[in-house]
Amino acid sequence: MLLDLSGKKALVTGIANNRSIAWGIARQLHLAGAKLGITYLPDEKGRFEAKVRELTAPLNPGLFLPMDVQNPEQMQSVFQQLERQWGQLDILVHCLAFANKADLVGDFTNTTAQGFRTALEISSHSLTSLCRLAKPLFSQGASVITLTYLGAERAVPNYNVMGLAKAALEASVRYLAAELGPEKQVRVNAISAGPIRTLASSAVGGILDMIHHVEERAPLRRTVTQQEVGNTAAFLASPLASGISGQVLYVDGGYCIMGF
Ligand code: NDP
Repeated sequence: MLLDLSGKKALVTGIANNRSIAWGIARQLHLAGAKLGITYLPDEKGRFEAKVRELTAPLNPGLFLPMDVQNPEQMQSVFQQLERQWGQLDILVHCLAFANKADLVGDFTNTTAQGFRTALEISSHSLTSLCRLAKPLFSQGASVITLTYLGAERAVPNYNVMGLAKAALEASVRYLAAELGPEKQVRVNAISAGPIRTLASSAVGGILDMIHHVEERAPLRRTVTQQEVGNTAAFLASPLASGISGQVLYVDGGYCIMGF
């Protein structure tokens, strides 16, 4: 097999349900032979845990742990368990984001300082925190992958504060790539996906209009699937992408190249 991840250990964050982009990524990594560790966002009643556990069971995750990126102890505990069980990490998938709903509709000037902090803490700074904790565990040639969107560089209606969070995330990718590359050839990249219907995207006002717009204008006349994003993640995680670091790769049917 050209794309072979057998024996590689991959931590995948951000699976909420079967529409999650992280679910598409986890499946493609599994198909390529990677061993998976899965984290989920815990809630008081344990409903998310049950849902994600059932969904991911066929992929036989070797680790299945709660992790809220606003909870430093929980994050630390994930990496302590990972170290005990795996000793090293080859692939880290950061596939999570959050902003208050009120900050994802209407006038951008209404963005509050609190809303700004929340969006940037969860959606951007969490990548840096995960990389700091993973740093001693990264294997030679390890790969870090995060998910971004065109709203980082263009004013997309309603994307508002999340556009700022994604811009910070893309800058983080470059700084992390610069720091983590020299010693162990660790690569850090972002995939900029076209709009896909998921739990998170349904919080963005007018997501269906965004999808229709892409279907009308993208060179491929369609948006993309979770599986297509997963395939690109598997490529980036593999030695086939050994020369690529610090980049934003567009998996959007070509939409971002169009002038109007
Ligand atoms: P999902 O809602 O399926 O995934 C978002 C994930 O983030 C969920 O699992 C959510 O958990 C998790 N999350 C939110 N807050 C926290 C937190 N504090 N700690 C840990 N996890 C948290 O949506 P997507 O698959 O769409 O989103 C995945 C990534 O892809 C995001 O970065 C998103 O911005 C990006 N993206 C999405 C696009 C789209 O059109 N869908 C396009 C381009 C990029 P829970 O649901 O349990 O709250």
